[in-house]
Amino acid sequence: MYLELDSVFNTEGESVEFNYEFSLEDDSVVSPVKVIGSVYNKTGVVHLKADAKFDYSTSCAKCNKPLLKHANVPVRHFLLAHAESEDNDEFIVLDGMRLNLDELVSEDIFLSIPPRFLCKDDCKGLCSICGVDLNEQQCICRAPSDPRWDALKDMFNE
Ligand SMILES: [Zn+2]
Ligand SMILES: [Zn+2]
Repeated sequence: MYLELDSVFNTEGESVEFNYEFSLEDDSVVSPVKVIGSVYNKTGVVHLKADAKFDYSTSCAKCNKPLLKHANVPVRHFLLAHAESEDNDEFIVLDGMRLNLDELVSEDIFLSIPPRFLCKDDCKGLCSICGVDLNEQQCICRAPSDPRWDALKDMFNE
C-alpha cells in the first residue's frame, strides 16, 4: 500500500489511518500481514505508528519441534519529506511525500525476527549421539555418570 502524505506533512494535527493486509514473500510467514496504524503530524513532526500482526512458522533451535508463533511487530518511525544531514534509522526519508508502507513494514519485520527460537526456555534439546528428544525421554548416552550404568559397564568389561 502506498500512502500519499502531502496533506499530513503540510497540516499540523492531520492524520491518515490505515488498516489493511498484504502478503510477505517469505516462506516462514504463513499468514497475510495485518497492518493497523496511522501517520500523524504532531507539532510539525510526522510520526508513523503501526502494529504488524502475522503468523510465523519455525522450529525449535534445540529439538527441531515445529513452532507456530503469532507475531506482533511494532513499527515506529519519524518521517521526513526530504533528506537532512542527520543519519538515523529512526527517520525515514520519503521520495515525494509518498510512502511504500509494505516495504517499510517488511523491513521492520525482518529486523525483528529472532535468529533462533526455542520451544521453551529450558528445552533440553536432542541427544547429540542418538538423537532422542531429551524433553521426552532420557537415553543411555547421557547415563555414564549414573552409577547403575557404571556397574553394567564393569560387567561388560569382564
Ligand atoms: Zn525444543
Ligand atoms: Zn542419546
